[in-house]
Amino acid sequence: MGSEGTYDDAGAAAIDLLRTAAPVRPDADHLLTTRTGLVIVDVVNGFCTVGAGNLAPVTPNKQIEKMVEEAGRLAKVFCDRNWPVFAFLDTHYPDKPEPPFPPHCIIGSGEENFVPALEWLENDPNVTIRRKDCIDGYLASFEKDGSNVFGDWIAKFQIQTVLVVGICTDYCVLDFASSTLAARNIGRVPPLQDVVIYSEGCATFDLPVEVAINIKGALAHPQDLMHHMGLYMAKSRGAKIVDRIILE
Ligand SMILES: [Zn+2]
Repeated sequence: MGSEGTYDDAGAAAIDLLRTAAPVRPDADHLLTTRTGLVIVDVVNGFCTVGAGNLAPVTPNKQIEKMVEEAGRLAKVFCDRNWPVFAFLDTHYPDKPEPPFPPHCIIGSGEENFVPALEWLENDPNVTIRRKDCIDGYLASFEKDGSNVFGDWIAKFQIQTVLVVGICTDYCVLDFASSTLAARNIGRVPPLQDVVIYSEGCATFDLPVEVAINIKGALAHPQDLMHHMGLYMAKSRGAKIVDRIILE
């Protein structure tokens, strides 16, 4: 269809323009050390597995598949070395909506669990799991007594750097990174120094404008463009962005 070609061309031109106007140049290659903790954000069926609910991809998606692969690869490296891993799992009660999103990751639906490739993390003693019912993982880590499960994990393992992977680059990954950096700046998460986002280990969803235009109230969300913007915004908050990981 001619119209699709037009959209594709416009999309490609837009991402080129954005990469030129607001570039995200990678920081130095990241070297993993014993003081690095891996944070895995929401690699759950409800966001990653084709057909698994309102916010899951409707067809196989390369960016998401690559993210799952890289998250699994790094999780294996960390667990093999007994290095700390912290995983957020987006999980909601059916009677507690999360506007503006439609119901997703409801307890018991299976959407709230790790994707099949990462299911093994559920029982690995190296992994701390935090189920969360809000976008921002740092905020979601607060307990009623004011303690913070994520902050306690940082302190327990004396983590200086968190390496972040997961979905979505411009939602949960960005909000987690921004809040954690703000917390770092006011001394709430010692001895954390750096939040490093691995760009190849992150993904976001795709809702092209030509699809969104036919859904009432939907906000268009072109995947490559918004992934780029997510990285850009995180970098603007002080996160380091890397596109390569070097093993010590
Ligand atoms: Zn949610």
